[in-house]
Amino acid sequence: MDFDRDYRMLVDGDLVAGSGLDVINPATGAVFASAPDCDEALLDRAVAAGQRAFRTWGATPIAERQALLRRAADLIEAQAEPLARLFTREQGRPNPGALGEIAIGVQWLRAYADMNPPVHIVDQGDGQRVETRYVPLGVVCAISPWNFPVNLSLWKIAPALAAGNAIILKPSPFTPLCMLKIGEILKDVFPAGVLNIISGGDALGPLMTAHPGFAKISFTGSTATGKRVMESAAKDLKRLTLELGGNDAAIILPDTDLDRAAQKIFFGAFFNSAQICIATKRLYVHEDIYDDLLGRLATLAQTVKLGDGSEQGTVLGPIQNRRQYERVKALIDDAKAEGLTLIEGPAGPEGGYFIPITIVDNPPEDSRVVQEEAFGPVLPMMRFSDIDEVIDRANASDYGLAGSVWSGDVDRAIEVARRLETGTVWINNNLGLRADTPFAGRKQSGFGVENGIEGLLEYMAPQSLYVPVPKR
Ligand code: NAD
Repeated sequence: MDFDRDYRMLVDGDLVAGSGLDVINPATGAVFASAPDCDEALLDRAVAAGQRAFRTWGATPIAERQALLRRAADLIEAQAEPLARLFTREQGRPNPGALGEIAIGVQWLRAYADMNPPVHIVDQGDGQRVETRYVPLGVVCAISPWNFPVNLSLWKIAPALAAGNAIILKPSPFTPLCMLKIGEILKDVFPAGVLNIISGGDALGPLMTAHPGFAKISFTGSTATGKRVMESAAKDLKRLTLELGGNDAAIILPDTDLDRAAQKIFFGAFFNSAQICIATKRLYVHEDIYDDLLGRLATLAQTVKLGDGSEQGTVLGPIQNRRQYERVKALIDDAKAEGLTLIEGPAGPEGGYFIPITIVDNPPEDSRVVQEEAFGPVLPMMRFSDIDEVIDRANASDYGLAGSVWSGDVDRAIEVARRLETGTVWINNNLGLRADTPFAGRKQSGFGVENGIEGLLEYMAPQSLYVPVPKR
């Protein structure tokens, strides 16, 4: 398989060629590949194929479906290295992190191959037994973003197929290539029409969400787009899972061991050049240790290498696309215009979409850089002295995705964590999620669940059978 060319869509078991979608390497700003732009007729064909395949796939014993998920995991794992090289070129993240993402995607396929939906039986001897089983929904419309293009796609494919649905996945137009190659790798694993992967420009997402042939939409992306997806889904009441934006707070209590924590806090904010929904985007630090932590983070900002992810030793890559690059630059310009104090790391190479690591020293709570999800390496760091007040500040957000609490006293940190209005909270840690544990946003970070058995059940519906039995 050639990972450098021939990016084709997987529709009804066929690889379908096409063009029209230029893919840019964000480290250079230059187009390096072309992907197909799926039109409405091909989308119709994919949905019809999914509906046909669903009739058999949905009725296939779950153990057989799980075996094919394991096979898919093995085949992707065997191509992890060329996939990771391609990943770095289209997404920008340095190679170790790219390999890490492929490994996590594989792990999710295997985790869902081991999960079984529950069966509930009620029999009280009154002449009937009620059996509730979970059944698949039909054809799933899956739409993923550019920041974790492989993980966030496989996190939908794995539970959707394990549950017995067919799926049509559309990766972001900025990062379609790895998922198209994964479609090619998996071409003969699932029956034709069960797994379909299509790529396209801005018009394709709305065409998909409006398509009457889908039973469910699973969407990961921004809150603004999530609202449009929900509006579109309302027309025929498609089931919805929305994993949207975040503006996560980290609260650093005064007894935190900064020797152990500083580096973790740094990468919790800046890994993947801060383009992570669950990155720390507001850092609240107790006044007793504020200057100490600021000094440590500023030193890290100076030493971590920013550059082309394909070069050895690069730790942080570019912003993934020009649109986002312009947005983050505008946010920094706005902070400068406001007269805020910025601590900046070294600039990246010329030509690519590089933004230096930027720490904003104690900006006012109402500044844009605190209130908006930056989704780029601009971290506002704020002092606090009173724990109740800082919890209120952390919760004063339309988002409710995740957060973290840091302290030498874990019980004290747990007390604070329980008061955060988010779906996930880490103590003395950040970023890591587990396949067996539900991940769900609150407020405008979305609704529905990914991961865990709850994530599997998002792709299923309960069916309760009332069966007559002899009275006891
Ligand atoms: P985006 O909303 O711009 O795009 C996401 C996907 O939706 C892309 O595939 C895009 O082509 C498609 N799309 C765009 N308009 C559409 C429409 N009207 N209808 C249907 N589909 C449409 O998001 P992005 O910029 O790619 O990703 C960044 C955002 O995603 C950030 O806000 C980030 O926090 C969020 N995110 C959330 C999670 C999570 O799990 N909660 C994970 C990663 C990223």
